Amino acid sequence: MPSCWLISEEGSHKPIQLPHLQAVVVGRGPETTIKDKKCSRQQVEMKAECNKGYVKVKQLGLNPTSVDSVVVGKDNEVRIKPGQTLHVVNQLYPYTVQFKEDLTGHHSSTKRPREETSKDSNSQRNVQTLKAAKKNGSGSPSVSLGENTKTKENVGHWSQGLKTSMLDPQMQVYKDDKVVVIIDKYPKARYHWLVLPWQSIPSLKALRTEHYDLLKHMQQVADRMIQQCPDSSTLRFRSGYHAIPSMSHIHLHVISQDFDSPCLKNKKHWNSFTTDYFIDSHDVIQMLEASGKVSVKEGTSELLKLPLCCHVCHKEFLTIPSLKEHLKSHFPRQ
Ligand code: AMP
Ligand code: ZN
Repeated sequence: MPSCWLISEEGSHKPIQLPHLQAVVVGRGPETTIKDKKCSRQQVEMKAECNKGYVKVKQLGLNPTSVDSVVVGKDNEVRIKPGQTLHVVNQLYPYTVQFKEDLTGHHSSTKRPREETSKDSNSQRNVQTLKAAKKNGSGSPSVSLGENTKTKENVGHWSQGLKTSMLDPQMQVYKDDKVVVIIDKYPKARYHWLVLPWQSIPSLKALRTEHYDLLKHMQQVADRMIQQCPDSSTLRFRSGYHAIPSMSHIHLHVISQDFDSPCLKNKKHWNSFTTDYFIDSHDVIQMLEASGKVSVKEGTSELLKLPLCCHVCHKEFLTIPSLKEHLKSHFPRQ
């Protein structure tokens, strides 16, 4: 059976062996050289399944551990395979796992390529005309930031759900050779779409200068979605990205600012769209142009805990129901 190793991408220390089916706890300490107080001494538990080629990753610490920039969530467990990146905490301290077959001490260099969906067959289809899409009041259970709700219809981990939805013609409202637009399955406002590239880009962190044109195109498609919306003259829209997304595969949120939806249920939902946790598409593009990458400020996850403030008049509320009642005054239904 191959042996499994945890490799620091920054080369901060020697590989740590993950023995088959044995729980290894990784966190702040001399073994990893991590000194960051935001990282618990017992941040992540890792258990290799050497015969299956993956490692189970469980977040034990309070601050977010992520795999390919998707937050695991406290006490949740996901799998990591070679080719994926584990960030021990707050998108920092990147690691990969590797399995090696031989006994010579050389690490296998055969990394599993990231999931390739770059030229999906859909991309060959002709450009379709924009369709207005309004979906609200579905009452579906919310898959929210860090709430690792499993959805029965998705094969695999819930965080991969967008990859399934983007291929589902029922969800698609627009597509061209570069992007597809779907209706958010748990819309947080009267209008809520997601623009996704066919190209497989896991998250903001993976963006490089070469993606600049694609991001511009995603922005243009978002603008067109807004223009064709029947309520665009009365509703304001924003298009942007969650700094720390919960779902894999980069997605641009296009969302009306009424936040009138039964799927908007908690403080995390609210703050993820109304604080700096939501980064405007224009700012992302500008950052990419200026520095060739997109970085997320330290402490961004804390923004989700801020008090509930109305995004129009800044009045503070103690509960989501009282805030939602108040929002009716700003956004009366016609
Ligand atoms: P985030 O990753 O935080 O930027 O947001 C992910 C968005 O995807 C949320 O607005 C969810 O409501 C939405 N969502 C979750 N699962 C699905 C799915 N299977 N299909 C479409 N949208 C989804
Ligand atoms: Zn208000």
